[in-house]
This record gives sequence, C-alpha cells and structure tokens, in this order.
Amino acid sequence: MTLRLFNTLTGQMDELVPSDGETLRMYACGPTIYDYGHIGNFRTFLQVDVLRRALKLTGTKVRHVMNITDVDDKIIRNSTAAGIPIGEYTARYEKAFFEDLEALRVERPEIISRATEHIPQMVELIQRLAAAGAAYQAEDGSWYFRLAAFPEYGKLSKKDLSGMEDGARVDVDEYEKDSARDFALWKAAKPGETSWDTPIGRGRPGWHIECSTMAMEYLGESFDLHAGGEDLIFPHHENEIAQSESVTHKTFARHWMHVRFLLVDGKKMSKSEGNFYTLRDLLLKGYKASAIRLALISVPYRHQLNFTFDGLIEATSAIERLRTFKQRLTEGSFAAGESPAMQEAAKKAQAEYLSALSNDLNTAEARAPIFDLLRAGNTAIDQGELKAGDRDAILAVLASFDAVFDVIEDRDAEITRHALEYAEQSGRLGDVAPELLAAQGLTDEAVEALVAERTQAKKQRNFARADQIRNELAEKGVVIEDSKDGARWKRK
Ligand SMILES: [Zn+2]
Repeated sequence: MTLRLFNTLTGQMDELVPSDGETLRMYACGPTIYDYGHIGNFRTFLQVDVLRRALKLTGTKVRHVMNITDVDDKIIRNSTAAGIPIGEYTARYEKAFFEDLEALRVERPEIISRATEHIPQMVELIQRLAAAGAAYQAEDGSWYFRLAAFPEYGKLSKKDLSGMEDGARVDVDEYEKDSARDFALWKAAKPGETSWDTPIGRGRPGWHIECSTMAMEYLGESFDLHAGGEDLIFPHHENEIAQSESVTHKTFARHWMHVRFLLVDGKKMSKSEGNFYTLRDLLLKGYKASAIRLALISVPYRHQLNFTFDGLIEATSAIERLRTFKQRLTEGSFAAGESPAMQEAAKKAQAEYLSALSNDLNTAEARAPIFDLLRAGNTAIDQGELKAGDRDAILAVLASFDAVFDVIEDRDAEITRHALEYAEQSGRLGDVAPELLAAQGLTDEAVEALVAERTQAKKQRNFARADQIRNELAEKGVVIEDSKDGARWKRK
C-alpha cells in the first residue's frame, strides 16, 4: 500500500515513495530552543510523527533528520538578558523539548543535529554559493544570498515576486511575509555576541543556511521529503530551496509537507489573548498527555484544528474506552473458535483504517472504523458471542491503530508526576489543578492497598468501611470500578 500525500511543491496529491526504493529520506524543521514548546509547535511535531509511523506501518523505512536551532537572534537576546552563555541557556530548553516529545510519545528522529555543531559545513556551503555568484559579502562583513541569482525563487510558496527589489537586503531571520529580499547567510560578529572565527570572517550563521546544510549533510543533495509548519513555507523553505539548488542544480526535496496552524477556542493562539498554552501548562491543569496527543493528531494535518478543552475531554473519554475495551479483551476468557461476523468486522476495520491513513494521513477517518469495531466487539462480549479467535483478530487491529496513534498503553500517571516535579522546581505549584495535587498525594501502592482493604471489607459485609474508602479515593481523583472479575481502579 502506498501513501498519497499532498505536495506543496506540485500543488497536488503525490505518491510518497523512497527514491532509492528502500528508505524514505526526510527532513523536518526542528525547534528554536529559547523557551518551552507550545501546543502549536507540538501539533507539527506530532503530525510528522504520524507520517513516519504510517510509513513504517506500511513497510517503508525512514531516515528522519531534525535540526535543533541553538543559535539565533532570540536565543542571543534571551541569554544575554539572563547573563549566561548561549550553550547553558539552550541546554535547559533542549532538555525540556525532548522531555515534552517523550511525554507526547513522539518518536525520536534517526538523526538530531544542532546548528552550532555544523558551522564548518555551513561556511563551506556559503563559499560554494559565493563561487557560483549567488552570495556576496556586504560592507559590514555579513554574507547575503543574491535572490536575482535564482530565477525560480517563489516556486514553493507560489508567490508572485516579480516586483521584488534587486539588492534590497534583510538581516533578521524572519522577515515580512510579502516581500522578498536578499537574506543573510552569515552575520558578521557584533560586540558581545556569540560568534565563530571562520574563513569567511567572524560571525554566526543565519537561520535558513543551517537547514540546507544539515539536510544535505545527512540526506544528500536531493532527498524525498521536507516537512514543517505552514508558517515556514515563506520565506524559510523558499530560502532553503534557493540556497541548495543554486549550488547543486538538483531538486532539493521532491516532496514538501506543511502542517496547518491551530486555533485555540477559535482564535489564533497568543499570550495577549490568554489562550497560549505550553504542553506543561495543560499537564498542570490536569489533562493527560495521551489526551493531548490524541486531540492534536485527530484532525488531519492540512485542516485547521480548533483546540478546545471540550476536545481534550472528548479525547480523554475516547482513550478510556479504548483502554477498557483492550482490558476486556485481554483479561476475559473466551471460547475457542471464530465467529464469521467478528472476523469480517475486524478485517473491514483494518482495511478502512489503512485506506484512510494512506489518503493524505486522514487521521479523523482512520479513527472511525476502530471505534465501530470497539462497539461491535463490546456488544459481542456482552452477548457472550465473542470467540478467542475474534479476540486475537481485534487485538491485531488495535495494535495496528496504536502503531500510529499510540494512546492505549497507559503511562499518563508517570508523565503527570514529572510535570508536578517541574512545577515544584520552577515555582509553578500555584498553577496546578487542586484535584491533581490531591490525587498525587496517593502513590499507586497506597491506592492498591486501599482497594484491597475495601474488597476485604465487602467480603466481611462491612459496607460502611467499603463506602468510606471509595469516597476517600474519589476525593483524591481515584475511581473504583467493580466488575465480575474484581475491582479495578483508575485516576480521573
Ligand atoms: Zn528549517
């Protein structure tokens, strides 16, 4: 089965296949590590995670490179304000970034490359650009890309740049969205700023050159796919193409995937609107990492996601249903054999699931058949009609679902505990939801002990004590569910 994915460069759905017939070589722009990541950033990383997992599920190997921008205007400004070297400043946010990715179960790319560790390669690319007549040095020692040297500029963003001013320059990493200018490849050192002594002078790289350099370093001059948020199409990705193709005269990336922005409560996320959330903010409010993952991936990547707390609650209950269903299947005992209806239902769900994923990663459509199967399976169990062979077939479908969605295995309590440690260390305990603090007062062992005591109390017909324990646990956010197989508990 082949994945079809919208390609920003061609403006159409293209088949995504490795050009070497084996391993899909992909590059995705990583974070600038100057602060904690917000949910808009994570939506992009999660959708790229969905892509790589879907590729692997359909039998394609991936070689995925992600850069870490550990030097740029904002980092220099913030580390100077904090009075610490940039390396010390960025180390803290890099660590936080990977903790957040792990909490969201984003698979680690095969290669993670830091900008500051590839300065010689960037300098070499700038030298090649200069030799090709596509780069020049300005009076202050900075190097610029000469847009006039690349007539195809604008082919990715489809912007009409005919009115662009020859020789007009811009030296900030991000510039206005509607004007094209010669952009900085290398910024001459300013007093007090971090800089490197190199054959093209003392200075530091611009943002765009790092992605061209590191993509080609690890994937070759021409590779299969480049991904990022839609805000990077122009100018960042347009500039990457210009820098790379001006020296190689080869197609830089054949396929470009861009993830759409999200809205929060129907509005653009911003600190001034009060709807700006980091992952950590949401964990401290008591939302589970798995629910945040599901909410951020359930709307297909090319659609605008409107992120709401209702959406998180919906995701929480969807995950709960999946987990309970899997538990019923694995813990129940079923008669040997198969029922034709359930076998057919499992086969249909699997086929529809894969077909939706391979159609431009339609995660919303991919979810639907899994929940149809869940309903049919629960009914069959209730009616005593589910056979052991059906259970195995359904578990295989759930495994395939979780190979991409990865929300069924429950690691939420541990992640929440880490978030609370962070709150404690960074003086944010005041932001923690009270019921979360109460629940964390009880370790899993303590809950187990209370649940066992309650079971014992019920056996001895001491219902007052049994109820008292149930209420105590409920106050601390722990719910007990009685079933014929005994009592189970979970944290709300
Ligand atoms: Zn980039």
